[in-house]
This record gives sequence, C-alpha cells and structure tokens, in this order.
Amino acid sequence: MYDWLIVGAGFAGSVLAERIATQRNEKVLVIDRRDHIAGNAYDMYDEAGVLMHRYGPHIFHTNSKQIFDHLSQFTDWRFYEHRVLGEIDGQHVPIPINLDTVNKLYNLKLTSEELEGWFAQRAETVDEIKTSEDVVVSKVGRELYEKFFRGYTRKQWGLDPSELDKSVTARVPTRTNRDDRYFTDEFQFMPKHGYTRMFQKMLQHPNIHVMLQTDYQDVKHLIPHRRTIYSGPIDEFFDFRFGRLPYRSLQFKHVTLDQAWFQPVGTVNYPMTQDYTRISEYKHLTGQDHPRTTITYEYPAAEGDPYYPVPKPENQELFKRYEKLANATPDVWFVGRLATYRYYNMDQIVGQALATFRRIQEALPSGAET
Ligand code: FAD
Repeated sequence: MYDWLIVGAGFAGSVLAERIATQRNEKVLVIDRRDHIAGNAYDMYDEAGVLMHRYGPHIFHTNSKQIFDHLSQFTDWRFYEHRVLGEIDGQHVPIPINLDTVNKLYNLKLTSEELEGWFAQRAETVDEIKTSEDVVVSKVGRELYEKFFRGYTRKQWGLDPSELDKSVTARVPTRTNRDDRYFTDEFQFMPKHGYTRMFQKMLQHPNIHVMLQTDYQDVKHLIPHRRTIYSGPIDEFFDFRFGRLPYRSLQFKHVTLDQAWFQPVGTVNYPMTQDYTRISEYKHLTGQDHPRTTITYEYPAAEGDPYYPVPKPENQELFKRYEKLANATPDVWFVGRLATYRYYNMDQIVGQALATFRRIQEALPSGAET
C-alpha cells in the first residue's frame, strides 16, 4: 500500500514526491507513461554524445530565490543568459525588439529616446486591447507586427493574432535600450549536469519508487494507494466527459552536424520564412565542449503531444467545468501544466508544487515529520 500515487514524473510530480517522502516520511509511487523521468524538461546525451533536450530547449529562469534555493538542493548550476535572434529580411536581428533591432533593420542610428518617438509615431490607437494583434500594433505599429509577430503566431498557433487572446503576445517585451537578453529574471541558470540528473537526485529516496511506461488509466485500480497527485491532462482524468481541451503541439527534428557550431546564439527564430518556427543549438545552453553539435527544428502541429493550451475564452470555460469536478474529487490533488490547463514556465510549476505541498500539510497534518 502506497500513501501516495503520483502521476507524472515532471517538475510537478517530482517536486511533490521529494517533499512528501522527506518531510512526511510517507511512501510514494511515481508513475509516468513515458520511458523517462523529468517530463518535458528531459535531457539526454544523443548518439554523438551531445547533451540535448528531447522536447525542445528548456532554459531555467526565475525571480524567486525560494524556488531557486529549493532546486539548488539537487543540482549545481551553470550561469546562462539566453539570447535569441530573428531572421528578418535576410539578416539576424535581436529578439525581443530593441534599439539594435530597429537600427539594423532600417539602417538607422537612433538613440533610445529617439526610438521611443519612432515607436510612438507608428503605434496604432486601439480603444480596447483584446487580441494579440492589438497588443503589438498599439506598441510598435503594423510593420514590425507583420515582420516579427504575424507570421510567427500564425505558424505557432495555426491562428491569426487577431483571433488569439492578448495574453499570448503580452508576454513579449519591446525595449528601447540595447539589452539583448531574452529573459531578464534575477536567476538565469542551467542545471550544471542537465535536468535529468537533477530529477534523479530529487527522486533518489528510499520512500520513493518510480515506475515508467505506466499509464494511470491502466493501473489506477491495480495499485493500492490512499491518495493521488495527478499532473496529467485534466480532461483525460474525467474521461473527456465534457469534450477535449484543445492543445497546440510540436514536432521536433533533432539533427547532429559534423561541425562544432551551427549558429551564433542558442535560438534563431524564423518569423517570416520556413515551416519551422525556430532552431535551437544546445551547446550554447549547456556549455558542453564537443567537436560536433546538435540542433532542433520546431514544427508546430495540430496533432501530437499536448504542449500549449490554446488561450481562447471558450477553452477556459471548458477548463473551468473540469476544474469544478476536480475540486469535488476527494483525495486527489491536481497540479502541473496539464492538470491546470495553462502554459507555465518550469519555475512557476515548482512554485505551484511547493504551494500544493503546503496545502497538503494543512489539510493532512497527521504526516509524521522527520
Ligand atoms: P510535464 O513536464 O509535462 O510532466 C507531466 C508528466 O506527466 C509527463 O512526463 C507525462 O508523460 C506524464 N503523464 C501525463 N499523463 C499521464 C498518465 N495518464 N499516466 C502516466 N503519466 C502521465 N519552461 C521554462 O521555464 N523555460 C523554458 O525554456 C521552457 N521551454 C519550453 C519549450 C517547449 C517546447 C515547451 C513545450 C515547454 C517549455 N517550457 C519551458 C515549459 C515547461 O516544459 C513546463 O513548465 C514543465 O514541463 C511543466 O512541468 P509539469 O510537471 O507540469 O509537466
């Protein structure tokens, strides 16, 4: 008899497994239907010996010292600030849009103050900002919107930005200085020996057992357990009774090249050309010294593994119906990106898991403290 059955060995499931095993001294079985731990953050050495990420590039960044300190128990870190270039009109320019982006693209020599005026001249007046298109055209105007956002968004989502909620592009900043970092968080690091090694350490405890290639639907009645933590898709838990929650997927094409480097930065975006959205090269992220290099092309797809919840109001309403059921299901805690149907970064999921642990401690104070 396990005290807890934890579905999913990604950040949500693994952070909670470690907390329960060490702080409550209870027995945990973690299952995952994939053949590995670490969820979407899984990394591995490929045939050439290059450390790469099977589900696309994952860069850790957070402003929370608490979350950073928590993960630091399981890994050393490598300082890494991600940089992204866009291939626009045949040249590489910084993304997010900054002073150098505009000066290079238009062959100008604007200062930061002049750039503010330049954006203001082009910005369109939008009465009420509702869609992703509204967000961008009201900040930088239609031409930059067309070059950087429209094609990329159409590829990524299969929808025009005018059909997508404002939250999708609201995340992308525009800068008038020369800062070309993709993220500006206080803590920006990669696990020194990779994510999978960090997860191995997190799950290495006598109270934790891990079973891979095991689907919850197949074993839920077979494995005796008292309580469940579920980090899989919420609609699947309830047998899709209200219908499926829509997701956007990706196809990854991983290629190893007989050369040391392929591109100048970790990621190059292709907003205007190609079928793929971006190419990432892992050695920039990992700092690995290797004579060959591995890159990943990302092709957005309608079918496949669920990666990005589609942010439309009707989908949120459908999720709310499932959430109501989840709230009324005793002894099951729903946590993680798939169970809460929202795009979250890794640090946010760690935060969500730690908050869930605090709620468990309040609800079930009987767990023996060690
Ligand atoms: P997951 O990692 O998906 O783990 C859930 C696990 O549950 C999976 O392994 C799945 O196999 C398992 N599972 C589901 N259903 C079942 C079932 N029925 N039975 C058994 N097992 C089941 N975040 C960042 O902070 N930085 C980045 O740079 C970044 N890049 C990203 C790039 C891409 C392409 C994508 C798609 C996401 C990226 N993210 C990034 C987000 C990051 O992947 C998530 O925040 C994180 O993986 C969420 O962890 P999780 O545990 O909720 O989900």
